[in-house]
Amino acid sequence: MSFIPPEELKSLEQQIAFQDEKRKALLAYLERHSPFYKRLFAGLQLDPHQSDILDYWCRIPTTDKDDLQNHNFDFLSIPRNEIAEYTSSSGTLGRPVTIALSANDLQRLAYNEYLSFCSMGLEPGQAIQLMLTLDRQFMAGMAYFSGLQKLGAAAIRTGPGLPQMQWETIQRLQPEGIVAVPGFLLKMIHYAQEHSIDLKTCKVNKALVIGESIRDEHLKSNVLAQQITSEWDIKLYGTYASTEMQTAFTECHAGAGGHHHPELIYVELLDDAGDPVAPGMPGEVTVSTFGIEAMPLLRYRTGDICRAYTEPCSCGRKTLRLGPVLGRKKQMIKYKGTTLYPPAVFDLLNTVRVIEEYVVEVDADEAGQDRMILHLCSSVPPEECRRLLYPALQSRLRVVPEMQFHSAEQIHQMQYPAAGRKPQRFMDKRKPV
Ligand SMILES: [Zn+2]
Repeated sequence: MSFIPPEELKSLEQQIAFQDEKRKALLAYLERHSPFYKRLFAGLQLDPHQSDILDYWCRIPTTDKDDLQNHNFDFLSIPRNEIAEYTSSSGTLGRPVTIALSANDLQRLAYNEYLSFCSMGLEPGQAIQLMLTLDRQFMAGMAYFSGLQKLGAAAIRTGPGLPQMQWETIQRLQPEGIVAVPGFLLKMIHYAQEHSIDLKTCKVNKALVIGESIRDEHLKSNVLAQQITSEWDIKLYGTYASTEMQTAFTECHAGAGGHHHPELIYVELLDDAGDPVAPGMPGEVTVSTFGIEAMPLLRYRTGDICRAYTEPCSCGRKTLRLGPVLGRKKQMIKYKGTTLYPPAVFDLLNTVRVIEEYVVEVDADEAGQDRMILHLCSSVPPEECRRLLYPALQSRLRVVPEMQFHSAEQIHQMQYPAAGRKPQRFMDKRKPV
């Protein structure tokens, strides 16, 4: 039986009470050690040690990636000579953001991923192939590695890419699990099919999939996940994490959202005005970290929009769970009274076989309202494509945007506007707020 922290089996009310003390400790720590938050508290004339401090919690301004970018080392709460590792994450303004960790922070990270592997049901003695970067200051690669060490499992550090080498290693060492981006698993499947590798003969039966979502907003497997599991009999476990929050939310076998670990992080889902959203509604994931020494965060807005699930999970844990990232806050589209995000539109278009490629364009009309155009390349005439697409748009998005049809070459030009390496399927022509 895998390890489950005792708090996660208690009621949600008990977990919230357990977190009250942690929140108070975080405020006191920041006031003592964080130049950024010390300044913030002084400006608010807020004493983090006052007994009713949690009553003021909602009035403490949120922080975001721009703050981290602009005041990066003001977030550092330990002396520089106590830093054990410098990791980095891409910044919003072009420059990378440095996230420094103490030796204890690295242990915390290992513990977090140990919990992820436990929730996947991985066991000591098994072997897991890590198909992701372990260098380039990338935090997650090392986090998975150290999590496996803590579990007592064996790591196989193959790194990203190179399907041939990945398959050779799988056949030679027979790992039980893998960690990879889901898009790469599709490439692995295609390589196996082209080279007569029998997917049934390998022992791999679980994959922790990172970076891309494998579920739609109803927690059902999305097209990407279906494409993988229809060809390869493996169980996919999604995870949501970011470098800044140094914490991951990983699914259990129920696949009903990523489990929250109350001892590691406090989660709020906020609306545009900074107020908590109604239960079950999507909101911006806003986190306060527990137990981080070097760069702890308070009410940090991640920019990710998720839904939270609070009913007890069939695995026995009673924690809050986060659904897939529905979109980035900045990409939110308000169209004809409906709020939606590009991934939901992509997911729908991916299921319509006659659509070969697409670009979703959003613009603002004269009244400042969002206008959405689907640029499509279809294998059937426009009228037939419209007829096929209309009911799906109506039922799943509840709106039918304008559709424009183009040749494959025209769509390609739209997807690669500046000789980029990745296709751009979302074109946002609105002015930044
Ligand atoms: Zn569960």
